Amino acid sequence: QAKREGRACFRRFTSELDKHIQHLRRLESDLREALAKKSGLEVYYQPLFTTADEKLAGMEALIRWRHPELGLLQPEEFIPVAEESGLIVPLGDWVLQQACLMMAQWPDITLAVNLSPVQLREENLAERIVEILNEANLDPSRLELELTEGAILNTNENIRTCLKKLRAAGVKIVLDDFGTGYSSLTHLQKLDVDKVKIDKSFVNDIAANDQSEAIVHAVTYLARVLGIPVTAEGVENSRQHDLLRIIGCTEMQGFLYSHPLSAEDTRRFLADKKKW
Ligand code: C2E
Ligand code: CA
Ligand code: CA
Ligand code: CA
Repeated sequence: QAKREGRACFRRFTSELDKHIQHLRRLESDLREALAKKSGLEVYYQPLFTTADEKLAGMEALIRWRHPELGLLQPEEFIPVAEESGLIVPLGDWVLQQACLMMAQWPDITLAVNLSPVQLREENLAERIVEILNEANLDPSRLELELTEGAILNTNENIRTCLKKLRAAGVKIVLDDFGTGYSSLTHLQKLDVDKVKIDKSFVNDIAANDQSEAIVHAVTYLARVLGIPVTAEGVENSRQHDLLRIIGCTEMQGFLYSHPLSAEDTRRFLADKKKW
């Protein structure tokens, strides 16, 4: 009896797995097509604000995919597929191009773009990024590349050279999702980054959990000592905002201020100076 149930359970499991694998294959071929046709892919933008005077500090580009049958897909659903298939390389270029062209119209505002570790393995990445900046006529010092710890800590010589080239060109390197990786505070000094972004998982329970608050406090304090600005992401309510202000985060981002905006809403938002 138990054995039979076990087998039935296993069959169910393998058929679920098959379905899942088929789904991933489909996403990959659909994404390839979307990229070739440049259709369905959209860049959204979420504003970042300075804590001190609540002024607009920058916009973070966030990819969306309007799938013809599956509807609006969030990056978490297709970025892993893009990374595994290598499609993240042309996809990443495309996001950067779109975002640079958009932001070139508004001087002074910083543009933050997420970079996958897979993109960093490309030999000529730094050169391509500089080329895209030139084509869009965007000053490199306005671009912040958001990378996770794993990517920045990489000891691979090519990757180190690539990051060096980018910084030499004036591009800023931001440590994203801080707190979710191996994250040791001691890394902060060695990493040589221009900014740290505390992950929303910490911000989320900062007002409820003393430990999270202590961690954010410690990170922000150390970063300040090292002269590195700190952004808090995922700020959803005013309690979090108030605490983060007291703790001394330099910039804030989250639903409390604005959700990510479509390109059209972004233009409207930026055109209305009163809003920032
Ligand atoms: P991330 O870089 O950590 O981006 C922050 C995520 O939190 C975004 O999700 C954003 O929409 C969401 N968020 C912003 N404010 C709040 C808030 O107040 N509360 C909550 N609960 N969430 C908030 P999104 O857009 O779904 O992106 C997820 C992840 O996908 C990003 O995490 C980033 O790692 C990746 N991603 C997005 N766009 C790109 C891209 O163009 N290239 C690459 N390589 N990765 C991307
Ligand atoms: Ca990010
Ligand atoms: Ca994050
Ligand atoms: Ca991230």
